[in-house]
Amino acid sequence: MLNIEGIDAGYGATTILNGVSLEVNQSEVVTIVGANGAGKTTTLRTIAGLLKPTTGRILFEGEDITKMSAHDIVELGITLIPEGRQLFPDMTVRENLLMGAYRRGARDHQAETMDHVMELFPRIRERLDQHASSLSGGEQQMVAIARGMMARPKLLMFDEPSLGLAPIIVAQVFEVIGKIVASGATVLIVEQNVFNTLKAADRGYVLENGSIVLSDTAEALLKDDHVRQAYLGI
Ligand code: ATP
Repeated sequence: MLNIEGIDAGYGATTILNGVSLEVNQSEVVTIVGANGAGKTTTLRTIAGLLKPTTGRILFEGEDITKMSAHDIVELGITLIPEGRQLFPDMTVRENLLMGAYRRGARDHQAETMDHVMELFPRIRERLDQHASSLSGGEQQMVAIARGMMARPKLLMFDEPSLGLAPIIVAQVFEVIGKIVASGATVLIVEQNVFNTLKAADRGYVLENGSIVLSDTAEALLKDDHVRQAYLGI
């Protein structure tokens, strides 16, 4: 579904990604594992069209999206749930969710999608009329995920969804991601919580200094000596 072929990308004159290639197939859950600063966020931002690669190609369902605008990429069905949630603080939860549904493919099914999303996030239903800024960090993360779901994406990308949350909330976030995965979604996820993420994923890539150094099934990566030492602290 998503094919990244040898991309270089970065900020200004600084190249962060060097020849990154990866793929995500339909209904697969793929994770990118890497240390802080390895380029994980940069990879997701490049797929979302927020950064343009200087070399290489990105194909989505066979179509070359390398030069497409971020808006057009959302329209094609790729949604990024950004690190730090980035909700609209002065809008209500409901308004935030509806902002997620502006994609053409989602607008006509708003009510139906809202029902589905509320089933996944029952606690949000009670808070629909509250300002997003009044929610706890964990609730804000749930709303950020719910907003991403409102776009009815074909590919859902998560950037560090458990960052800065208390362990009990992290467990809830992974429970919700598990339900989204079980519903057959195609997911690309970047997480500092490498163990839980590999447990939830089908395959993974290890990104170091902007290059993919290892890729395998999640099961094999969980047993890999380098992964265990560098990312699982074993
Ligand atoms: P983290 O887990 O810390 O978010 P990451 O693997 O997601 O790490 P990136 O956020 O992709 O890493 O950052 C990769 C490198 O790019 C870092 O060295 C970072 O300082 C640099 N970088 C990120 N954003 C910018 C920017 N807007 N301008 C310049 N450099 C940036």
